[in-house]
Amino acid sequence: MGLKNTIVDLMPGRLVRIFAAPYIAGKGIASGVAKADEIHSRLGLYSTVDLLGEEVFRREDVEAMVQVYFRMIEALKDRPYASISLKPTQLGINESEAYCQDNIRRIVAAAAAHGMHVTLDMEDRHFTDVTLRMFKAIRNDLDNFGIVLQSRLFRTPDDIKALHAKPCKVRICIGIYNEPPEVALQDKADMKARLFEQVQLLLDHGHYPEIATHDEPLIRRCLEHLDKHGVAKGAYEVQMLLGVPRTELQQEIVKRGQIMRLYVPFAEDWKYAVRYLKRRLAHSPSMALMVMKNMFGS
Ligand SMILES: Cc1cc2nc3c(=O)[nH]c(=O)nc-3n(C[C@H](O)[C@H](O)[C@H](O)COP(=O)(O)OP(=O)(O)OC[C@H]3O[C@@H](n4cnc5c(N)ncnc54)[C@H](O)[C@@H]3O)c2cc1C
Repeated sequence: MGLKNTIVDLMPGRLVRIFAAPYIAGKGIASGVAKADEIHSRLGLYSTVDLLGEEVFRREDVEAMVQVYFRMIEALKDRPYASISLKPTQLGINESEAYCQDNIRRIVAAAAAHGMHVTLDMEDRHFTDVTLRMFKAIRNDLDNFGIVLQSRLFRTPDDIKALHAKPCKVRICIGIYNEPPEVALQDKADMKARLFEQVQLLLDHGHYPEIATHDEPLIRRCLEHLDKHGVAKGAYEVQMLLGVPRTELQQEIVKRGQIMRLYVPFAEDWKYAVRYLKRRLAHSPSMALMVMKNMFGS
């Protein structure tokens, strides 16, 4: 992993941008809005529009992020097919929990005024506790707020059981961050087996699972299981990342009458897009190959 990370770190931003094209809506709020509109009108897909940004340290930069979120909410309002997502390291967690929580609360409250849902993305294990604490505090007061849990972490079943008395929308994914064996599964097949179980666990606890994976057999297994147990189609949804070629499966899900949502990131500052892409490349080096295959149709 060390060598792979070093190679990715050394990649020039311009090269990373070539890989970025399919995965990022573009630069500026308008690119995120245009992509959300386009995939909804053309393909019937829903969106979670995400402002790229992480490890933002200076107060003025954090406030600039908050202001972009306010403008995003204005730009996306009246689109029931669009939600937004945000990250603690983008919104002041490096300064303090109280400051970050206040920033997130401001954004969730602004979105609530337009009936817009907000998802709190999950970052690496160092942030799990604080992210859950902030989520629960804000969720007490605002219903339009959901969170992400990662099936690779041993703690996730307990986190589901202790999540919230009120029903929550929970994006359940394997998790993009490599975590050590003391806290997480190491085998992808195991992570996916847990994800399948945790979809049911979320339902058992009254929550709304957002099944976030590109693994086609896993999605089919989940859908078959949910159909077999008579779970209403409006009780859960499927999510994928913009750019991963799954058009046929996505259309099949849309035709089932199910919400099929794409995560649509855009950048205000290109350095954050480069960071997002480098992270994805570092954790999934085969992605470079997949992008090339997708680009050249081989
Ligand atoms: C909507 C959404 C939101 C997410 N939010 C978070 C979050 O908040 N926190 C977090 O830790 N993780 C998040 N993730 C990432 C997630 O945890 C996984 O790292 C990622 O989805 C890859 O896992 P997979 O289940 O798709 O399985 P994989 O085995 O990685 O992928 C299955 C197959 O999908 C295809 N595929 C996957 N990725 C790509 C790609 N980039 N390009 C081309 N093809 C690809 C390949 O064919 C691959 O074999 C999110 C994922 C999604 C879909």
